[in-house]
Amino acid sequence: MNIQSAIIFGAKILKTKYINNPYLDAEILMAKAIKKDRNYVLLNFNHNLHNEDFKYFQKLINKRSFGKPIAYLTNRKFFWKYEFFVTKDTLIPRPDTEIIVENALRFNKNKKQVNILDIGIGSGCILLSILKEKKYSYGTGIDISENCIKISKINAVNLKVNSRLKLYKSNVDKFKLGKYDLIVSNPPYIKKNNIKILEKDVAEFEPKRALNGGLDGLSEIRKVIKKSSELIKNNGKFILEIGFDQKNKVINLLKKEGFYINSVAKDLANNDRCIVSTKI
Ligand code: GLN
Repeated sequence: MNIQSAIIFGAKILKTKYINNPYLDAEILMAKAIKKDRNYVLLNFNHNLHNEDFKYFQKLINKRSFGKPIAYLTNRKFFWKYEFFVTKDTLIPRPDTEIIVENALRFNKNKKQVNILDIGIGSGCILLSILKEKKYSYGTGIDISENCIKISKINAVNLKVNSRLKLYKSNVDKFKLGKYDLIVSNPPYIKKNNIKILEKDVAEFEPKRALNGGLDGLSEIRKVIKKSSELIKNNGKFILEIGFDQKNKVINLLKKEGFYINSVAKDLANNDRCIVSTKI
């Protein structure tokens, strides 16, 4: 069988399982199966497939047909300007989260050296992207998951920012090290009972503890705000991702902890997604 017929075969299976972009997904999985990039796949439609490669491709198609996200099947995801290694232990980096990076850069434009903390570093996408842009800055990342610490370390080495990064496996409440000019966080903020109604790819495959914000969705956000208020320098910036309906409640929590609200940024779907505040 050649590459093209295999892709058509794979895409048909994905289509019957209502996967959104069956041809695109089949092409990406073909690239993974034959260990080449997508361009190679597109330029070599007539090449014959080895039997083992076809079997591997079928296996990937089968997993995708049950909803497993492409990023977990390829172990890669683009975010900001870089490709990140991801596994089922990390949340898949979202384009909406790039708003945190954008705001971090905007609000620290004139500062050469920024000491940054990322609470719940996950794959490292936020902090490592900022460190790549701010060459003289230092970062600290914490996460409750040992595997996330390992994965963000791998990404830091790949992106060559490892020497400016410290990582700690820690729960947000217990962490006490350092004082920071900038704190960023994309904490779990989905209401516990709403996780099951998210898209199947998310609900069944992404780590629950990266999503679950407790009964009201705010239990981790509360801890992150409290901790940030302790560890941030006066005049330091705190940039937090929130759920689409959490703006007013989170603003109140921030004000109570002595933060001034600079701006609330909307995501690509026009939902309130990111609050920039300053410790005063
Ligand atoms: N900081 C990581 C991200 O933005 C992980 C966030 C999380 O797991 N809640 O993707």
